[in-house]
Amino acid sequence: MFRIGIGNDTHRLARGRPLILGGVRIESEFGAEGHSDADALVHAIIDAILGALVLGDIGAHFPDTDPRWKNADSLELLRAVRERMQAEGYAIVNVDSIVMLERPRLRPHIEEMRARLAAALETDTNNVSVKAKTGERVDAVGESRAVMAQAVVILESSSR
Ligand SMILES: [Zn+2]
Repeated sequence: MFRIGIGNDTHRLARGRPLILGGVRIESEFGAEGHSDADALVHAIIDAILGALVLGDIGAHFPDTDPRWKNADSLELLRAVRERMQAEGYAIVNVDSIVMLERPRLRPHIEEMRARLAAALETDTNNVSVKAKTGERVDAVGESRAVMAQAVVILESSSR
């Protein structure tokens, strides 16, 4: 029994905010604005898993009106969603994802993102793909006004 899910997320960029993607803090002139730590990649993966389980979206589970989630570590939220996924009887087959950011270049951080995401998901690093793209200097991403992420996930029933 397999289930597929899709997720995406956008955060506005601002000076003086930390930039955290895939649980990795990245040196950057601009960081992401948001209620939690604004980790767009983790948020997209959370939405993909919730979607695969037909459990609504991240806003329903971690409302941004709730002070508990202010500056929250998004990997903590991902671990909570992974626990819910396991309680529903599912495990990760694989995750594919894309982070869209004009600068800095993310390539040097990809392996650490994959390792942290895989640990939070209790899966092998080889099951977690993270790809980085720029916005080719056009639109919100290309003009460094936003960071965006997309993710797809396949889950399999762990009770076979
Ligand atoms: Zn988000």
